[in-house]
Amino acid sequence: MQGLSVETLTGSCLPIYINGTYRTSEGGRIDSYDPTTGQVWCQVPDCTDAEVDAAVSAARAAMSDPEWRDMTQSQRGLLMLRLAELVEANVERIAEVEVQDNGKLLREMRALSQALPVALRYYAGMADKIEGTTIPVNKPDMLNFTVREPLGVVAIIIPWNSPLYMMMRALAPCLACGNAVVVKPSEHASAGAVVFAELMKEAGFPDGVFNVITGLGQTAGNALITHPGVNKIDFTGGPATGKVIAKGAAEQLTPAALELGGKSPHVVCDDADLDAAANGVVAGIFAAAGQTCVAGSRCFIQENVYDAVVEKIVEKARAITIGDPRRDDVQLGPLALWSQVEKVAEFTESAKAQGATLAFGGGRPDGLGDGWYVEPTIFTNVTNDMRIAREEIFGPLLAILKFRDDEDLMQQANDSDFALASGIWTRNIQRALRFMRRIEAGMVWINTYRSPSVMSPSGGHKDSGYGKHNGFAAIEEFSRIKTVVIDYSGAQQDAFVMRVNK
Ligand code: NAD
Repeated sequence: MQGLSVETLTGSCLPIYINGTYRTSEGGRIDSYDPTTGQVWCQVPDCTDAEVDAAVSAARAAMSDPEWRDMTQSQRGLLMLRLAELVEANVERIAEVEVQDNGKLLREMRALSQALPVALRYYAGMADKIEGTTIPVNKPDMLNFTVREPLGVVAIIIPWNSPLYMMMRALAPCLACGNAVVVKPSEHASAGAVVFAELMKEAGFPDGVFNVITGLGQTAGNALITHPGVNKIDFTGGPATGKVIAKGAAEQLTPAALELGGKSPHVVCDDADLDAAANGVVAGIFAAAGQTCVAGSRCFIQENVYDAVVEKIVEKARAITIGDPRRDDVQLGPLALWSQVEKVAEFTESAKAQGATLAFGGGRPDGLGDGWYVEPTIFTNVTNDMRIAREEIFGPLLAILKFRDDEDLMQQANDSDFALASGIWTRNIQRALRFMRRIEAGMVWINTYRSPSVMSPSGGHKDSGYGKHNGFAAIEEFSRIKTVVIDYSGAQQDAFVMRVNK
């Protein structure tokens, strides 16, 4: 199967990819929708337990096949560079498929697709630089060193919002370390991973190194995370699912990295460049229609500039062009799921009922047919105990809160179940650095927002999960340390005493 694209996949049921071959699944069928029309555009198989088992077995077999097991680190790096070239040549096809599935802006999905070869090249360069250490253990005539090894089979479970970008955060370091993977994309956006398999084959990765199974979380997903052949679970998704995954992983003592949701504080201080800050706040929540884990959905504005900044934010929200995500002038596309439209509506009602003030939006725009569009929505006079300040909505809804001084800010900003991202706008470096130290978040952006890098570790804590992606931290996440001890003294040891340090 070659050249899978929106055109060739429309009206079809996606294939799955196991052991280097596309297959038709024997499982049930799940409808996959185009969010711009609300119509089904293709179907996704709900893989059977046997198919999940076949994918894990293929990955296990690849791990013991000399073609992959004994490939040198530099050769792995070269294969990854070849893959990077192929991905680069297919950026547009990948972006189009992902937009068809999740309705995000084509410009945004193109940028995220362009980041895929960047990640591949970054980790390709690392493949032959993954080193152990030599440890001076205070024992004469003893050599003690460590080597880093692949973990084995990694299950990569991804959400619908940025499927291949999320997959690549795990896949690139996994390949660099020499692992084999089984990817389970979201049932709402599976086409990207299926198309990507074609490029893995073309790049020349041995069969079984990369497999894609599709399906629902409770069926195919559960079969994957509880499979005894899986050595690590890399999960990106919601906190409720994260807890289910952690329990399933615990049954098999399988380690897991969990990248979960957020309710990230985005702060505007009275000494900030207020125009730049207002722009940052708008970009932090309305880019990707708020469907991003790091969305700055809890905006804190200092009380003496509150009204002025709110006015600027509302003005910018009013100017947002809503429409078909494939158009270059559009800034806000539809939501990916109808259930997300309902969720935003429910939170809008809850905010009103709890006494917040609707400053903008709150409904659905006219004249856009049956697409799943929602207006950018802004609530002011929000307090930190309201549901819109506490729960992740994953939509274009901004909750604006007020703070008095830095102490008040820290109390409110850290009073959250989540700890993923954060941002602050201020010209005062001391203030920014004090915030950086005290904020409970895995990432802090100062005078910018939503600017990640593959070279920079990312990940949260509290209900935002655990484990790290990006940077060298991901190499540590997807490899393990083996300790080696050599006694070259030639002396006999006392057989009945452990040779601890004395
Ligand atoms: P989700 O938790 O519903 O699903 C994520 C994936 O898990 C899907 O592939 C789904 O099929 C699978 N799944 C569901 N139940 C499962 C089970 N029992 N066993 C195995 N797999 C199962 O999340 P979603 O709605 O697809 O994505 C939105 C969420 O993802 C938001 O909470 C968002 O914040 C989070 N997210 C986090 C990050 C991050 O880097 N922290 C990035 C993107 C999205």
